[in-house]
Amino acid sequence: MSDDVVALSARSIAEAVASGELGAVEVAEAHLETLDSGDAGIHAFLEVTAERALAEAGEVDAAIAAGASPGRLAGVPIGLKDNLCTRGVPTTCASRILEGWIPPYDATVVTRVREAGAVSFGKTNMDEFAMGSSTEHSAFGPTRNPRDTARVPGGSSGGSAAAVAADLVPLSLGSDTGGSIRQPAALCGVVGVKPTYGAVSRYGLIAFASSLDQIGPFARDVGDAALLLEVIAGHDPLDATSIPDGIPDVVDHLDDGVDGLRVGLVAGLMGDGIAPDIAARVREAVAVLERAGATVEEVVMPTFASALSAYYLIAPAEASSNLARFDGVRYGLRVDAPTTAEMMVATRTAGFGPEVKRRIMLGTYALSAGYYDAYYGTAQKVRTVICNDFAAAYEHLDVLVSPTTPTTAFAIGEEIDDPMTMYLNDICTIPSNLAGHPAMSVPFGVDGGGLPVGVQIMAPALGERTMFRVAAVLEAAAQSEVAA
Ligand code: GLN
Repeated sequence: MSDDVVALSARSIAEAVASGELGAVEVAEAHLETLDSGDAGIHAFLEVTAERALAEAGEVDAAIAAGASPGRLAGVPIGLKDNLCTRGVPTTCASRILEGWIPPYDATVVTRVREAGAVSFGKTNMDEFAMGSSTEHSAFGPTRNPRDTARVPGGSSGGSAAAVAADLVPLSLGSDTGGSIRQPAALCGVVGVKPTYGAVSRYGLIAFASSLDQIGPFARDVGDAALLLEVIAGHDPLDATSIPDGIPDVVDHLDDGVDGLRVGLVAGLMGDGIAPDIAARVREAVAVLERAGATVEEVVMPTFASALSAYYLIAPAEASSNLARFDGVRYGLRVDAPTTAEMMVATRTAGFGPEVKRRIMLGTYALSAGYYDAYYGTAQKVRTVICNDFAAAYEHLDVLVSPTTPTTAFAIGEEIDDPMTMYLNDICTIPSNLAGHPAMSVPFGVDGGGLPVGVQIMAPALGERTMFRVAAVLEAAAQSEVAA
């Protein structure tokens, strides 16, 4: 029984719970049972909130019994990245500096999924403060890729991706600043979505780089991802960058197909540095779209080559400012010392890991007097020309397609001592963050070694509906390939 329940999609669970065919508590118990044994070798979760899950599930069952509308995610188990504030539940960003800190409020996305009837199962592992591409930068030990536990799940939302890939929960939330939802989704073989900047409230998301951060869904299929996106999206007065009108609905248009759509294949992301197996899968993906009625052309995005450099100035610059608040006074860890200044130094020295310290130093340097224009100022200009490149492409194209990642999942330990190689993981994903555009990764078969390959679909701001139509067609083709 429990095997059957954990294999269900979020949509099926919500339907079965709403109709009374399954109890939310029954669903929670089945998932908790799997989680107990299933997470041992993967470490997707930093904290499993079993009692809360059963209590929340009980509330869903009680609401249904009382005739109340159960919500679109009635009884659906969900995992929350540990940079999302959860009232009464520790939130660490996988950092020693926040160990023991318990937020006094919920992030807006946490409130929204709860109001929709979802049941939170706890907090998922991540790279410390979302800085990384492998989840090895967690202060609490790495997460392993469920498809091959000697390999990384990607990052920084590696715990959220692995939890869904291992069938521990059908849905999870992550955050994506430079690729942290799409890259782990690709490496774990699940769907991951970075919405348009401002589509989903960032209230209660512990900031890494505020002009780039977006929260988004992980799911095993495109339909579940669309449902979760609709639940979390929408205006929030608590986030000043929240889009007033929200995004167009997606769920009702998943079957619209791609007939007549104009697709651009990003030429610069298909050659050097991209594993040949991945490039071959992406070519197969655009062939599928062409057969389904889309027109495909190769498009040159000349400024994409500078995106990584611009990102590694802008993101650390914003991080160095955002992380200044972790000073031993207000949150979590304090290492005592004779003076306040010494206490702050001692706390930050002990509390931050090496990658976070590297980013703070890079960012502080980029913002320092005398270097500001040369580094931060130039990076912002590059950001503008990247936006212009996108705008020119979208004059005659509806979506862009590329690999999500340059390689499939790499071995634990393989890239950890080489920051530059680690940073290159995001070469395909960063441009959409710089532009504030939506982008998603959809699983599209495997490489020669049997590891999942993700195809990235990018769309202009508020283009989620079109993006999901393309994803649905690719998903159907990938599934019929497996069946054949
Ligand atoms: N891997 C990138 C970084 O380390 C992106 C991280 C993210 O999207 N949070 O900055």
